[in-house]
Amino acid sequence: RGRVKPETPTPRLDVRNLSRRFGRRVAVDRVSLTVMPGQVTCLLGPSGCGKSTTLRMIAGIEPIDGGEILVDGRIVCDLAGSVPPEGRSTGLMFQDFALFPHLDVTRNVAFGLSGPKAEVRARVAELLERVGMTRHAGSYPHELSGGEQQRVALARALAPRPRVMLMDEPFSGLDDRLRDDVRDETLDLLKAEGTAVLLVTHEPAEAMRMADEIALMRDGRIVQRGAPYNIYNAPADLAAAAFFSDVNVISGRVQGALTDTAFGQFLAPGVPDGTEVDIVFRPQHVKIDFDRSGRGPHPTAAEGVPARGVVQRARFIGAESIVEFRMDFDGSILKARVPSVFLPKPGMPLWLMVRRDRCFVFPKG
Ligand code: ATP
Repeated sequence: RGRVKPETPTPRLDVRNLSRRFGRRVAVDRVSLTVMPGQVTCLLGPSGCGKSTTLRMIAGIEPIDGGEILVDGRIVCDLAGSVPPEGRSTGLMFQDFALFPHLDVTRNVAFGLSGPKAEVRARVAELLERVGMTRHAGSYPHELSGGEQQRVALARALAPRPRVMLMDEPFSGLDDRLRDDVRDETLDLLKAEGTAVLLVTHEPAEAMRMADEIALMRDGRIVQRGAPYNIYNAPADLAAAAFFSDVNVISGRVQGALTDTAFGQFLAPGVPDGTEVDIVFRPQHVKIDFDRSGRGPHPTAAEGVPARGVVQRARFIGAESIVEFRMDFDGSILKARVPSVFLPKPGMPLWLMVRRDRCFVFPKG
């Protein structure tokens, strides 16, 4: 009495150990993921890692070789049987998901809807309003821009109120400036509808912008799952770190849970003596300073020991510049991404400091 067991909410989409082989090649290898109502999960990874195949299995347009798929706790697919795509309460949106050219915008959005005419009309009007396309209701697809067509496609996919929306690179056909707007609008709309979204993308920036959770995929497997902030700031390995941005890598060997580098000692807790490690950090976590006194700058505790390098080249990219250094310590090349206060010249000796709390230490794989 008095003790209520907290109910774990049922995921809208629950994928367990999903697998797919093509011949002897395992394209998708025991992939598990969940999406809660109103949440966006991004399947992120390089080309060919199995993202689309995973999405297609969930949509029901690709057979599975193992695992199970549940929508609202109900099995819609396992090795014993499969609910056809139209019975799964899933909506699908591709990059080149064409609208019907011979139907106007209203009829395109109404296409998958059934029921009383007045209800269909109201639902179509509501969605066109939401995607800002009301005044184009009578237009035909060829009369619309790419971004407008995309909005209609989204309205059409959402019209039947799918429980789960499956999106495969839906924004890649749009030009850069339009894409950000359409992404934000799409996200707002999907959140307002409470739809669970599984979004496939190979672009880290898109995943970080859109996702509540990222599932990072490589060679058919999910290698890390987590909130964008956590994955970016605590990558599981060197490849995961490097997938999100350029990284600097310096080598070390562990002795007494420490490793020596040009930037002083780094902690390597729990790593056995003699292990070769990579110390990995992003260029934006490198600070540079002039060699005014010839003795080097005075770093804060977070910045560790300064190390001297000589500028190899500097690229101005707007608010920031990317500066490449050859390090005195071992001749290695490191990159710094620094505010464009001044543009260092090749040959200039400078001091580098790295934010130690932003460095990752990984045993060499
Ligand atoms: P992209 O971002 O390039 O679309 P992806 O991560 O979505 O890549 P998939 O399309 O899922 O990758 O493909 C995963 C692997 O499975 C690839 O090696 C691909 O060549 C292979 N593959 C996909 N479909 C088939 C098929 N029908 N027959 C044989 N191999 C296939």
